[in-house]
Amino acid sequence: MIEITNYLCGTWQSGMDPKLPVRDPRDGSQIASTSSEGLDFGAALAHARNVGGPALRALSFPERAKLLKDLAAAIHERREELIEISIQNGGSTRGDAKFDLDGATGTLAAYASFGKRLPEKPYLHDGDGLQLGRTPRYWGQHLWVPREGAAVHINAFNFPAWGQGEKMATAILAGMPVIQRSAPQTSLIAWEVAKTIVESGILPEGSYQFIAGQPGDLLDHLEGQDVVAFTGSATTGRVVRSSAGVVNSGARVSVEADSLNAHVLAPDVESDSDAYDQFLANLVTDLTQKAGQKCTAVRRILVPEAMVNQVAEDLSAQLGRQKVGDPAESGVRVGALTDEAQFERAVEGIGRLAEQGSIVCGGPERVGTGATIAPTLIRANDGAADVFHELEVFAPVASLLPYSGEAGEAIELVRRGGGGLVCALYSNDGDWTETVALGVAPFHGRVWIGSDRLQGQGLPPSLVLPSCVHGGPGRAGGGEELGGLRGLELYMQRVCVQGFQGFVQKKLGAPSAS
Ligand code: NAP
Repeated sequence: MIEITNYLCGTWQSGMDPKLPVRDPRDGSQIASTSSEGLDFGAALAHARNVGGPALRALSFPERAKLLKDLAAAIHERREELIEISIQNGGSTRGDAKFDLDGATGTLAAYASFGKRLPEKPYLHDGDGLQLGRTPRYWGQHLWVPREGAAVHINAFNFPAWGQGEKMATAILAGMPVIQRSAPQTSLIAWEVAKTIVESGILPEGSYQFIAGQPGDLLDHLEGQDVVAFTGSATTGRVVRSSAGVVNSGARVSVEADSLNAHVLAPDVESDSDAYDQFLANLVTDLTQKAGQKCTAVRRILVPEAMVNQVAEDLSAQLGRQKVGDPAESGVRVGALTDEAQFERAVEGIGRLAEQGSIVCGGPERVGTGATIAPTLIRANDGAADVFHELEVFAPVASLLPYSGEAGEAIELVRRGGGGLVCALYSNDGDWTETVALGVAPFHGRVWIGSDRLQGQGLPPSLVLPSCVHGGPGRAGGGEELGGLRGLELYMQRVCVQGFQGFVQKKLGAPSAS
């Protein structure tokens, strides 16, 4: 039996009993165990602050960018081996496994590229210098400087590699050491990535630590310069945000939580158009890839009443052609959910949605022996019923919600999700699109606009790109990650330096106001 260990204070460490089982979701068999019981998290945080932080901050932004480039290469070198582990531990198809792993290496490489153009200075400028007094002698300059704490990264089970990579890329480039806490369910993959990172020797000592087991008292040791970046459910997000460690320390917190992402078909879209094909293709991707376990996957599909029958028919026909089952088998597009607990939650969730509608395709039945269900579409009797706007079923499950086609009703229904990661619109009508896009914008991190002219050109709305922000307000957690250099802000302190212009401009290299 494999024992997944923790990397703390420069050594691999085993936790005490009880050990958490790590399983193969294809048949529920145990493949590994992990624990971090009894480990000294206070020492780990101190190690990050006292050893990792100074070592990283001694490097320039371009030098840290080079570390990211080398890390991407080291992980990519083990790609084939990691794909096999991902199939076994994550229930992932080969395509799903690549999505996670290439997402990690791609994001690290993207930040390597963003960072190599940054100045060889220990800070970044935030805007131009400012005249603050009656004469230019009294001058101000906003700067970003790295925070001198530890970045605690808590990840959900669904992206064991990408979750680490995307958070690390921004933290390391900003100059903060990371403590990565992976979800136990998929900790075998996360551990293999962690071993690759540690054994590569690329990162300075103390700048990367890894916890696979119980989070224990980790948050109790936080201090004011630390950062917590959490990804998971809205419920756990609230627990983390309100924990005594966070509240008492004043550590900065970012929460990336769940989201009832909506795709909205406009009334002008005909079933023989490119925009309609794009709409169906994106829905099929979201209801198959990672077995629907993506935070950005569609949960609500808003369709004008006159088109609902057609969409139900076309979508269920396309979903019915997707092979569901053992992710190791060739041709399988929908693998297993991460574990039996997720399967049970999905079954219960489908039952609750179906109480207010009818199942168009799929359903709660188990496919094969694993934690596997087929892509499931539920047609709502009433698109405004609360359950569709409140319940996230983290599986290949979405609801078809009839609406009038009016822009105002689309906006109102989408906003009932309480804040989301991404909303996708499909229309060739510029006025409708502008109204709805701006109407839903305050409630989202991204608004994706599909149309005939984007067909074949755009990447799917569920794809998180390093150059664009990821996160959303309200229920989605209120956090913001990535977005190019914007992603560094979580790990840096903005400070306004005020004083004699001759000093501020000369010493801090501030650009002069034009
Ligand atoms: P979860 O149950 O909320 O757990 C998230 C992480 O928090 C896990 O690693 C969990 O560990 C840990 N955790 C739980 N209690 C903790 C505590 N008191 N202190 C510190 N850590 C704690 O979520 P999940 O089931 O793993 O993931 C699925 C959810 O994540 C879905 O709702 C999905 O929408 C959301 N998600 C959001 C994003 C995004 O970017 N917005 C991305 C991916 C997933 P344990 O498993 O040991 O409890």
